[in-house]
Amino acid sequence: MSAETIAVAEPTMDDSPDANPNVHPPAHPWAAGADAKAVESWAAARLERYDRSLDRLLSVVATRTIENTLRPFDDAQAELATVGQHASLLDSVHPEKDMRDMAQALTQKVSEIGTLLSLNQEVYQALSAIDAGQADPATRHYLDRTLLQYRLSGVDRDEATRARIKELQDKATELSLAFSRNVQEGTRHIQVAAADLEGLPEDYLQAHPPAEDGTVSLSTDFPDMQPLMTYAKSAEVRRLMFLAYHTRAYPQNQELLLGLLKVRQELATILGYRSWADLATADQMMGSAENMQRFLDQLEEASKAGAEREFKMVFDFARQRDPELKEIDLAARGYWYEQYRRSAFQFDSQSVRPYFPYAQVESGILRTAEKLFHVRFERNADADVWHPSVTAWKVFDSSDGDAGANSDAKQIGLFYLDMHPREGKDKWFSAASLVPGIRGRQHPEAALICNFPGGKEGDPGLMQYSDVVTYFHEFGHLMHAILGGDQPWAGISGIRTEWDFVEAPSQMLEEFFRDPKLLATVGRHYQTGEPLPAEVVARMNRASAFGRADSIRTQLVYTSYSLDTHNADPESLDLDALLVAEYRRFSPYAWIDGNRMYASFGHLVGYSSNYYTYLFDKAIALDFFAQFDKADLLEGPAAMRYRKCVLEPGGAKPAAELVRDFLGREQSLEPFKVWIGEEFKRHPRAGWAEGAKGLAEAGEDGLVWPEFANEGDDDLRW
Ligand SMILES: [Zn+2]
Repeated sequence: MSAETIAVAEPTMDDSPDANPNVHPPAHPWAAGADAKAVESWAAARLERYDRSLDRLLSVVATRTIENTLRPFDDAQAELATVGQHASLLDSVHPEKDMRDMAQALTQKVSEIGTLLSLNQEVYQALSAIDAGQADPATRHYLDRTLLQYRLSGVDRDEATRARIKELQDKATELSLAFSRNVQEGTRHIQVAAADLEGLPEDYLQAHPPAEDGTVSLSTDFPDMQPLMTYAKSAEVRRLMFLAYHTRAYPQNQELLLGLLKVRQELATILGYRSWADLATADQMMGSAENMQRFLDQLEEASKAGAEREFKMVFDFARQRDPELKEIDLAARGYWYEQYRRSAFQFDSQSVRPYFPYAQVESGILRTAEKLFHVRFERNADADVWHPSVTAWKVFDSSDGDAGANSDAKQIGLFYLDMHPREGKDKWFSAASLVPGIRGRQHPEAALICNFPGGKEGDPGLMQYSDVVTYFHEFGHLMHAILGGDQPWAGISGIRTEWDFVEAPSQMLEEFFRDPKLLATVGRHYQTGEPLPAEVVARMNRASAFGRADSIRTQLVYTSYSLDTHNADPESLDLDALLVAEYRRFSPYAWIDGNRMYASFGHLVGYSSNYYTYLFDKAIALDFFAQFDKADLLEGPAAMRYRKCVLEPGGAKPAAELVRDFLGREQSLEPFKVWIGEEFKRHPRAGWAEGAKGLAEAGEDGLVWPEFANEGDDDLRW
């Protein structure tokens, strides 16, 4: 069992650099008192090791082998990845702006070094000359994939072309970093009259007392924004927040995004691809933009009828409540869904919040993951952290029966939890790899960067159930990074697999949220300690199963936007017109003028054309989840088989093989299609009243689909 209530220790200073150059530089640059200068010198020591590894590789005169060529190449990769990931983390989380600025510059520098490496013909030729005929499959796969990525980078082009590619890549990094920074620092505030907060929960009102003039100031940060969009009765206030939220990085990011799209298109053209979307899918499971479009068309078809019926049910209901209502706009979707669920399923999402105080949820999720993945977590109060609120946890393997806290079980990794918002910190939810695991040399390390309620003195941090689903999601990434981290090579460690597979383990874990037994561990009343009653869980599951087809359509808006912005000539692209067109195509909710969501759609930077990853991996995750014994999710043999077949291999095999290994067959879209339309197969012609009654009486647990609507029309998390 994990230790839960150990106070955060003062960071220690035992990581001071050693004078001996052969000694490994400290793992992390955030020892106590570390300023920007100290971080820079930490990075410089790492980058020097990078240079030495490359020199070692290039100075070989003998026959090229795995040991004399791939090993130094991988050492170099590991150093570069470690510096890059730390820089990127500090850029996202560090409380001081000068540190974030330095970290951003460092991220740019690491990216430039990476581009140079990807265009280095000598290195490419050396790697190509390795005879890997006798090597193990993981090593052969690593080498093949590395050579493919070299070719996709343009390493075999002439010198002038490579110089242009380098320029464009550097420009793309610069634009991406600036875009993300604007989102991160772009908090807005709205002022509303205290009376306009009708419908919001008591603890929310207490946390936002009115100023002397009677107004309340609310930020676009998630814990302020999300409850407002779900519960506020005032349509005006919701619309005000919706627009503030979706313009928090506008107009700055409009130009940056257009610039980035142009750079990407030029890169694709130089490399012989019709569009960026084709280039960005060439080494992914998806394979091409055409395949992506076909996949989206299938989902379009599979969700159409269900979404129309769901919308009609909610709209008819809303009009009964408010006969004047002409439409439901994008800022009203979450509110009306909440009202509908209360009425049709007797499920009020506020009623479960007291069962999800942050600290209880955290310890419940840790314990669930320990059982499911056969690991043990132990709080590491001695670890250096970048902020006093961050906690560090050691991970031990307990797959051969060890569960005792005092055993000498093998430590297999370390992770950090940075879970609450603060000034200057990234506003979303993400998992980050920090140190790649290399067998016999170093453990994998990873971190969660989240913005959940709580973390303040006297605030229990009551979470919405969609927050808890998000926690499960992010923990799925974390476990993938740690359990996949026992590899011979840094380049295939943890989540370094096809990028369009990484949302499968995270979304798989979301499915566990619906289990009443499991929720009795995670959800306990913050005042009475009473577990979340199974009967409430059943109603919650049924209520949240309603609206699946509709939420697929919202995801299709984002997914198509991500594809279409990267699949046509950016010179003639109108970001606003395209956004309106996507909403009109997939969504029945009235458009709100002034919505510039693309300006804070961070995935356009990180995932570029490949936001489809969420839907694609949702289909895989549902197929995976069907393998688990629903009567006993945590104890059955599927859990260990899943760990072995899907998580542990990391990037040692093509992702499609991992999927086949676990399923024993090809992956199928059927479970996803069934899942989307399930409820309506049972109630094919239901109007809102009878349909809802039927759903409420169906007596069957639905799966949970995270609440896109409640999140101000966003489900953009990594
Ligand atoms: Zn994710």
